[in-house]
Amino acid sequence: MLNEKIAVITGASRGIGAAIAKKMAENGATVIINYQGSVQAAQALEAEIIEKGGKAVTYKCDVSDFDKCEKFIGDVVKEYGRIDILVNNAGITRDGLLMGMKEEDFDSNVNLKGTFNTIRFASRTMVKQRKGKIINISSVSGVTGNAGQANYSASKAGIIGLTKSAARELASRNINVNAIAPGFVDTDMTITLSDKVKEGAKGQIPLGRFGKPEEVAELALFLSSEKSDYITGQVINIDGGMVM
Ligand code: NAP
Repeated sequence: MLNEKIAVITGASRGIGAAIAKKMAENGATVIINYQGSVQAAQALEAEIIEKGGKAVTYKCDVSDFDKCEKFIGDVVKEYGRIDILVNNAGITRDGLLMGMKEEDFDSNVNLKGTFNTIRFASRTMVKQRKGKIINISSVSGVTGNAGQANYSASKAGIIGLTKSAARELASRNINVNAIAPGFVDTDMTITLSDKVKEGAKGQIPLGRFGKPEEVAELALFLSSEKSDYITGQVINIDGGMVM
């Protein structure tokens, strides 16, 4: 499905990003596994993909850094000559109630600015190619808001605005830009939630369970393939029916 495609996936050392990298590699793409701190996990994923006959390479870059992203995307283009798919998945939470939230916990540049940084540089290449797929990982928190996540929700809502603006700007160049808004997904990000919080959350999910990273990866695969060529500027919830 993605033979000959070059796919850059940010925050792909773990969780949803790692599942997307595996899925895209299984479908023929050469995947660039971006990470920041988890070098061993990123290298293990690279080895696993290659062992299964896929193509993968790791690249360390803090996506919140504009200049480092310019070098990162520039290096990918130098090596492969193109970027067909960009998945902005790197993300962090710094939960806390609004009244006590530290300024630096609001100011983090990973989620929203990191998404801007890579689009800023990769879109130039996609415009020249007159083709590309950009997939931004938002969250249901960005759609509905969430108590205790004012910073995270604002950044994820910002990603939705960025997605729609980029979709409008880039559509004439045949570049699709969409957002995925997951609900609760079983990863390191949710593993720390107490059993009480998890049970409470499940009570709000009509399908009665958390999602799996592989399920989000299936949607990302669809949005990166020709099967979704007529979809752009959309936010697709994948949340067991939590938001409807
Ligand atoms: P995770 O397991 O905590 O993994 C986060 C990934 O982001 C890691 O690979 C991490 O890499 C990377 N990362 C963090 N800061 C980075 C930076 N500055 N530069 C580059 N990479 C960075 O999280 P996840 O649950 O898979 O979440 C993936 C995305 O889905 C995030 O955007 C998250 O907000 C979103 N999401 C998750 C859920 C959920 O329930 N899990 C729900 C809705 C939305 P290193 O470890 O190498 O630093």
